[in-house]
Amino acid sequence: MAEQYKLLFVESFKGRVLFNVPMKEYTTLRIGGPADVMAFPKDEADLKHLLSFAGSRGFRVYVIGAGSNILVRDGGIRGIVVNITEGFTDISWVDDERAVVGAGVRLSRLSKECAERGLSGLEFAVGIPATVGGAVCMNAGAYGGEMKDVVEGVEVVNTRGKKNFIPKARLGFSYRHAELPEGAVIVNVHMKFRRGSRKLIEERMKEFKKRRMRTTPLALPSAGSIFKNPEGVSAGKLIEDAGLKGISSGDARISEVHANYIVNTGNARAVDVLNLIALMRDRVFAKTGIMLEPEIKVIGENS
Ligand SMILES: Cc1cc2nc3c(=O)[nH]c(=O)nc-3n(C[C@H](O)[C@H](O)[C@H](O)COP(=O)(O)OP(=O)(O)OC[C@H]3O[C@@H](n4cnc5c(N)ncnc54)[C@H](O)[C@@H]3O)c2cc1C
Repeated sequence: MAEQYKLLFVESFKGRVLFNVPMKEYTTLRIGGPADVMAFPKDEADLKHLLSFAGSRGFRVYVIGAGSNILVRDGGIRGIVVNITEGFTDISWVDDERAVVGAGVRLSRLSKECAERGLSGLEFAVGIPATVGGAVCMNAGAYGGEMKDVVEGVEVVNTRGKKNFIPKARLGFSYRHAELPEGAVIVNVHMKFRRGSRKLIEERMKEFKKRRMRTTPLALPSAGSIFKNPEGVSAGKLIEDAGLKGISSGDARISEVHANYIVNTGNARAVDVLNLIALMRDRVFAKTGIMLEPEIKVIGENS
């Protein structure tokens, strides 16, 4: 099966290429069947080559960052997973408030660097295990802050292997959502922060970190919040009020610490998580009439 893909990776492709890769090794939930191919483009030329060839042969392409918001089904992924974490990892400061940040940079590294430079805007990001590209795509946020507050625009490579710049006004940011052209891969994010006191920024980050440790299940693998919060109410509270805290399906469990998290207590399968998601959605709907909308992205095939 790998043969059909091998043609893609001509000598000019500089990054790593793996075949038949267990996706559980690349998601924070530690769940997911095998992907046919995982390619780690080293730079833009690699990515352009990969996307244009995959497009011309009709191969499906999925991009992942840190895999902290995805559930991969047990049958895995037919196609090519583009993993951007081994390239696109530069932070280039343009002036004392602006940077062009590679999509593969860890959000935690960037928020720490901002704090050291006395730049405010990313304090909320402490403890979000994301890449900058994934965080823009999801408009990640917490404690009143969101990615959209610090993004000026993104550079993307499209499915024809062409690069262009999309300004913030055309990114359609909303709660845990950004609009990108179908199949576009973010390679760089143009960001602007506000000058502030390093001491106050670090204090805020410490406080957010403490709150996160108190209120979220960090000891077991998860993918963060399963559902978006409906307008004016917490999804976790609705799930808890429906009496679902601590309920399990196989090795997947609705966390006792935060009911909007599903944790993997051992060898959970995607089907276990999907069972719990259906239960949470149905019970909350039956009790309140509110239909919860998933925040996590579910990809891949059933086994
Ligand atoms: C313990 C824990 C705590 C969390 N806390 C929060 C929180 O407080 N707030 C919050 O908002 N989220 C939180 N999350 C969820 C998650 O970290 C965010 O959604 C994050 O933004 C996902 O980034 P990622 O790099 O892991 O993206 P992935 O999960 O790898 O991908 C997410 C989506 O983005 C797309 N994508 C990724 N990279 C690119 C790219 N370069 N170009 C185009 N598309 C791309 C993928 O195709 C996918 O659709 C938490 C998760 C965990 C495990």
